[in-house]
Amino acid sequence: MPLNREQATLALDEPVSRVRLVSPARARALEKLGIRTVRDLVTHFPRSYIDLSAVETVAGARIGEMCTIRGTVHEIKLKKPKRNLSLVEIALLDETGLLMVTAFRQPWLMDQIKAGDAVAVSGKVSFDYGFKRMTNPFIEVLGEGQTVTGSVVPVHPATEKLSAAWVRRIVANGLELVRGAFDPLPLGLRLRYRLMSRDAALQAIHFPELRAEADEARRRLVYEELLYLELFLMQEGAARAAGCEPTAHVVDGGRLRAFADALPFALTGEQERARDEILEAMAAPSTANHMLLGDVGTGKTVVAGFALAAAADSGGQALLLAPTEVLAEQHHKGLGALLEAAGVSHGLLTGSTTASERAAMLELFAAGELDVLIGTHALLSDDVQPAHLTLAVIDEQQRFGVDQRAKLLAKGEAPDALYLTATPIPRTLALALYGNLSLSYIKHRPHDKVQRTTKVLSKQDQGFAFDAAREALARGEQVYVVCPLVGCSSEERDEKAAGKSSAADAAGDEAYHPAVAIDAETDFDAADVTAATKEAQILQNSTFSEYRVELLHGGMGTEAKQDVMERFRAGEIDVLVATTVIEVGVDVPNATVMIVEDADRFGLAQLHQLRGRVGRGEKSAEVYLVSASKREESLARLAAMETTDDGFELAAYDLSLRREGDILGNRQHGASGLKLVNIMRDGAVIEAAHKDAQAILDLDPNLEEPDHRALAREVRLAFKNESTIAGG
Ligand code: ADP
Ligand code: MG
Repeated sequence: MPLNREQATLALDEPVSRVRLVSPARARALEKLGIRTVRDLVTHFPRSYIDLSAVETVAGARIGEMCTIRGTVHEIKLKKPKRNLSLVEIALLDETGLLMVTAFRQPWLMDQIKAGDAVAVSGKVSFDYGFKRMTNPFIEVLGEGQTVTGSVVPVHPATEKLSAAWVRRIVANGLELVRGAFDPLPLGLRLRYRLMSRDAALQAIHFPELRAEADEARRRLVYEELLYLELFLMQEGAARAAGCEPTAHVVDGGRLRAFADALPFALTGEQERARDEILEAMAAPSTANHMLLGDVGTGKTVVAGFALAAAADSGGQALLLAPTEVLAEQHHKGLGALLEAAGVSHGLLTGSTTASERAAMLELFAAGELDVLIGTHALLSDDVQPAHLTLAVIDEQQRFGVDQRAKLLAKGEAPDALYLTATPIPRTLALALYGNLSLSYIKHRPHDKVQRTTKVLSKQDQGFAFDAAREALARGEQVYVVCPLVGCSSEERDEKAAGKSSAADAAGDEAYHPAVAIDAETDFDAADVTAATKEAQILQNSTFSEYRVELLHGGMGTEAKQDVMERFRAGEIDVLVATTVIEVGVDVPNATVMIVEDADRFGLAQLHQLRGRVGRGEKSAEVYLVSASKREESLARLAAMETTDDGFELAAYDLSLRREGDILGNRQHGASGLKLVNIMRDGAVIEAAHKDAQAILDLDPNLEEPDHRALAREVRLAFKNESTIAGG
């Protein structure tokens, strides 16, 4: 019935409040998950599945492994071990034994479950205080009113207000509304790769009958996401280049040479090569698209400085975009001094620049009287209008979405683009994901001979770390103590991770690192996280009483943050107790010891970023990862940090650890249109989509043919937040 198909198709873009059971209050709660439309809802994919058919007995369940256990509730109790923390403990019996189930911060379970109920719990089994135990497992009450029909239960990302079970129910209602909608993928492509229809795929990824069906559905949806991404990138590139005159930069000008002379050190061979490759791309009379890949601490910033100087030498202007204020300020200080010496004028623009300063700066920039503007997301604002932008540099580019990149580049006529990243991306993937790209790699740190050791310590042995810190302090060096986030629950972090990159922007410096998976390891309760605030006080009064201890966290005001960083840099603060605000890019070479508390609560990529803060100078450095965890898996994961100091190796290891369920929905990319793609795993699909998109656009550059109109619409919707792509 064509009318129904039409209606179903239109329903995709109606507000989520159309869906049965979604009240206005719940619509608001859904909005916090980034769900506004029915489309957002039906693409709110499960983050994992629980296979109820793989049932174990308590006796048979193996410690450290995921499994499902069915049993009868013997007893259920609500406890409050700490203020602000509720804990439900369930004693579950099956014919073979007793399983203790602990659920943090889910007091509502008391209303849903009572003694005598038959339930299934699914999660990782541990052994504690003499019992087999599951902490925060998935819990399903069996019997009447059971929402799960098949033996595979999807687990949707949820929040404190919206339980996974409720999300599951309304996703099902949402699917009803859009059943029968047109499939935007041309039939030819679907046949070639034997892809399910979108309708079937959406149903199957949310509610598979069998686990394998979800995989097939994912295959279809991943391909679709990637095809849209590729089409977007290519059209975007073409639009950018159309009628534009790319700049052939002058790369041996006076300012560039003055910049080189101002450097306090000699470049390493790798840095020189990267610099030359970048300058070569900039000198060519075509739009450069260059990515500089190098592990943390390899010295990418100064290499980018040469590019900024070359832009100025060529009569052009440049933007340097950084993901956090701390980082933007640091670039402004560090590079700023060198740029000054080279006669390149520059300014700093962040969310906290005062209105009058901002207006003055933007006026100069618009008049072409300011060469370089360094800043945060504030640079993306529409009123940042350079007179003649010829270069855009994006630092820590993995932190930005495709749309944000596009927005920055749209500020000039085909400006050259330089991306800096510490995320290891294989060459072919980089090509597919970023269009026609040239690449430079830096593998070694400038002070590569300088030792950096990493040691994992149990909580009892934390004293060793403090001893090492005190020795370093006695030598006049500085120390970081890193604590998990202040006043931010794991759910909030999940939400941020699930939200678009603009949400991360609004959230400020503590934007979740996209390379860190939303995995079970980090899915814990916030209330028992060591509060950095308290920690700083305790350390000041005890271990480091004769030194100056201060606190830095994302919740602080910008000025306060600036002030603390400033004084740490100047050596007026000895011990900086910080949250992951310092995770990216912060550069204080005199800091030589880092102690990470509750290290098991961080992802490996994030720990690697963190430890990149020390060992940046000529002195050797020590990193201590303190963990109270006894779980073998956590300890093995941390041990990898001891074994290798190489970010690429670590990323490969991290990937090898992830299970199917953990990978699903893991966003490494941060692009707004990508929900399922994992750039490490989906390499082959990325390449296929790249070729297919190219072939489609070769024949039909504006996607005007009947077969392609639906594609054009999908691409527009997937990347609707940016403005430069021509409508059609
Ligand atoms: P990243 O690649 O992580 O962005 P940075 O650009 O912040 O690294 O550089 C790390 C540190 O190394 C900085 O303190 C920087 O000044 C220093 N550095 C960079 N290049 C050299 C070099 N050739 N010799 C000595 N120190 C260098
Ligand atoms: Mg950097």
